[in-house]
Amino acid sequence: MTIESNTSSLATIGETTSNCWSCGTMRAVQFCSACGKVQPPKPVDYFTFFALPRKLHLDTALLEREFYELSRKLHPDLCARADKREQEWSLEQSSLLNDAYRTLKDPIRRTEYLLRLEGVELEEQSKAATEKARSTGEIKKQVVPPDLLEEVFELNMQLEELRAQKKLGEDDPALVEEIGKQKLELEQKQDSLAEELKTYWSNWDELVDSGTEENRRKIRDKMLDLLNRRSYIRNLVRDVSEVLEN
Ligand SMILES: [Zn+2]
Repeated sequence: MTIESNTSSLATIGETTSNCWSCGTMRAVQFCSACGKVQPPKPVDYFTFFALPRKLHLDTALLEREFYELSRKLHPDLCARADKREQEWSLEQSSLLNDAYRTLKDPIRRTEYLLRLEGVELEEQSKAATEKARSTGEIKKQVVPPDLLEEVFELNMQLEELRAQKKLGEDDPALVEEIGKQKLELEQKQDSLAEELKTYWSNWDELVDSGTEENRRKIRDKMLDLLNRRSYIRNLVRDVSEVLEN
């Protein structure tokens, strides 16, 4: 299965240790632990970059401190860095640091990233994908969450009606109000899904060290399902806003 092979190859990259180019000592990811020289970037995942376990509950205050500390140390303008290669590596390490920090500090992006590391494909629901689908007329691969089927159907009818009204330059305040109310409910649902996600984080974190592959897969699937539902709702909210604001 691709899931297993993905996981193990990434883990192998993360665990590969190498020696400092300058003094030959075993080095850390960004700097040599002995001489402090910046090292050429290794293709590690973002968790490994921050020397974190692949867990989802994360001390974001600590992450932030670590980020600022590393940014300062990796700053390419540090005059102590006479070596040209070291300057380039600083630059590369800095950009890796920025990407890693941006991804890990955000709860949703962190979860999506972890799932991708674990070999799970998320549904393509980005704005770009939506627009591409619209322009090419192809059907977007976006499954309506079963518990929302009725609501979404109803809402889409109302949106159609409002669009038609707006074209004629008249809109019905009651309809606008009704759609606005539904938008608010969808936003609340989005928030409660984010809360629900945290309970899966706890499950996942427990399983990282001691769980079986089978158990981990179950939680992975639950998180995937939740994120797909959440991004479906997010897109719907965006569509509603577009109609209301135009
Ligand atoms: Zn060294």
